[in-house]
Amino acid sequence: MKEGWEAIIGMEIHAQLATDTKIFCGCAISFGDEPNSNTCPVCLGLPGALPVLNERVIDLGAKAALALGLEIQETSIFSRKNYFYPDLPKGYQISQYDKPFSSDGHLTIMTAERDEGGHAKNWQKMEIGITRMHLEEDAGKNVHEGLPDTDKYSYVDLNRAGTPLAEIVTEPDFRSSWQAYDYVNHVRRVLQWVGASEADMEKGNLRCEANVSVRKVGETEFRDKVELKNLNSVRFMQKAIEYEIERQIKAHESGEGVNQETRLWDEANSKTRVMRSKENADDYRYFPEPDLQPLKVSADFIQQSKDEMPELPLSMLERFQNDYQLNYNDAVQLVAEKDLAEFYETTAKESGNPKASANWILVELMRELNNSGNTAGTSPITAKNLSELIKFVDSGKISGKQAKEVLVEMFNSGKTAAVVVKEKGLEQISDVSAIEEFVDEIIANNQGQVEAYRGGNQKLLGFFVGQVMKASQGKANPKVVNEVLRNKLG
Ligand code: ZN
Ligand code: MN
Repeated sequence: MKEGWEAIIGMEIHAQLATDTKIFCGCAISFGDEPNSNTCPVCLGLPGALPVLNERVIDLGAKAALALGLEIQETSIFSRKNYFYPDLPKGYQISQYDKPFSSDGHLTIMTAERDEGGHAKNWQKMEIGITRMHLEEDAGKNVHEGLPDTDKYSYVDLNRAGTPLAEIVTEPDFRSSWQAYDYVNHVRRVLQWVGASEADMEKGNLRCEANVSVRKVGETEFRDKVELKNLNSVRFMQKAIEYEIERQIKAHESGEGVNQETRLWDEANSKTRVMRSKENADDYRYFPEPDLQPLKVSADFIQQSKDEMPELPLSMLERFQNDYQLNYNDAVQLVAEKDLAEFYETTAKESGNPKASANWILVELMRELNNSGNTAGTSPITAKNLSELIKFVDSGKISGKQAKEVLVEMFNSGKTAAVVVKEKGLEQISDVSAIEEFVDEIIANNQGQVEAYRGGNQKLLGFFVGQVMKASQGKANPKVVNEVLRNKLG
């Protein structure tokens, strides 16, 4: 960012709550079904149809709110947000306005600066103010087809109408595009972590918008802001914000100024462009939804939701560093998703070797998972089986090199470490008397080298080790071989 300027960024995220049915009717939530196949009088907006709140939305909404450090309000109100759009047949969206489901959030995230190559450096904690998280229904989808010079039609698909959303709005607390990037990734991860949302941007079940303005360092008032939409991935969002910051600084410096408007990210041209100007604030004529009671949740429900919360990723990140002496880089990779973090913790405890567990999971297992399109949750090797493999290495039963082969075989066959080791005949020979037999034979057959060694050519030890390994077909434990050789030759 140009010296003397700072960026002010606030974020809005719409996350689809992971229910099976819609928020105000019993229609199935669908992705890619026949258009308008999952609809009924309620979500088609037919006159006289009445909404009934889906209880599951409250359960998942509570999980999401708590994961984001928000306070759940005992009373919240559904309101009508009035506007016309073809994919909104009622002419209004049922949302929440002055009394949202949750508010006053304080969320801690990890954020880092990025170097020229986009590599993160100096990870630090940052606290973000979350203004509110309210519940609302999604609209349908307008589908446009055709080229300008042919007959073209637009269609309305209402399968998505009535899908439950949590809208998460932050304070304007971000000062860089990477802080916003780290925030969105954090939100995605915790929503998935607690099972509140799939939070998959590709499927459109997590969408984000950024409000961006800039001002001179030292100014206390905000200047006019631009709303960025059409941010189809977290990376595009980061690029759009970065572009917008530079564009606005230039516009202010040239005296041209910044218009309050909505802009889209145009990935093909790597720039933002105007979608619509926003001369006045939107006037949605909000009023309380007369067909729904105020939503009341009990203090008991809130307490129970808190009790059911799993340990969250940042807490695990710190605990893994403290309890298992992992470095930040390893720990942060292990808490990327809940299944992986749990897989690690089980392996660390069962194997009794937390450091080796991290290495085996992050290098060998992760490679196999990625290559096969699996995750820790669908791994053919269980944490318990991986622990057994690690114990085999630690006890000298097999070498680290052999264990890598065994892991691949375990992964492909689903067999345990013990079975694979046995089948491959890999068991390392660590028994001293068995190794002494090999050593005696090698000494008897190589008298010339034995005399040279005893005469001071210590380098020949390597030769003897090699001979013993060869005679044992690579199965002798090199550590024991070394000890026995030093004894016998010494
Ligand atoms: Zn319906
Ligand atoms: Mn909304």
